[in-house]
Amino acid sequence: MKYYCKTCQKIVNEGAQCSCGGELSTTISEEEVRPFVQKLHKKTNDCRHALSHYLSFVVIGLTIAIIGFLFYYLSFSRVQIPDTQDFEYVVNTACSEFWVSMVALIAGGILFLVGAVFGIITSRKKRQILFDIENIRATRSLESKPVEVIFVTWFKAIRKTIRHAIWMFKHRQPKAK
Ligand SMILES: [Zn+2]
Repeated sequence: MKYYCKTCQKIVNEGAQCSCGGELSTTISEEEVRPFVQKLHKKTNDCRHALSHYLSFVVIGLTIAIIGFLFYYLSFSRVQIPDTQDFEYVVNTACSEFWVSMVALIAGGILFLVGAVFGIITSRKKRQILFDIENIRATRSLESKPVEVIFVTWFKAIRKTIRHAIWMFKHRQPKAK
């Protein structure tokens, strides 16, 4: 099991000493709940700020990648197939458009991936803290219980809605004649 450090709100393994050297405890008193939860809320705010940065990474990365695709399109040139009257379009790797497109696709792709990966990690961290806050308020236990993956939550919500719809359909009132 994992617990929050009472002093610095870092999550540490059960029985392990926190790097801040703070007091170890699995529960807090009634009076300690409010200030503790406030500190955790501050952490979720930091997560929110970081998330907005990662989101701009994703948007800028996508924009650069789209520009890359446009330049890739521009790097095609029409050439005559030898001994025929026909033409074909081939990528001209010698032109500057081609190199611009490659640089833009790689840079945009990296920016997008970094933003997406760190964004997912941060939003998961934020979700975990919000989940733990509920638990601390209800039980005063400092345990950090693993929160389920967000897709599982969505899946459960969709399943519940479908079940409810089926139930409504089965129990619908017969039409009055
Ligand atoms: Zn600590």
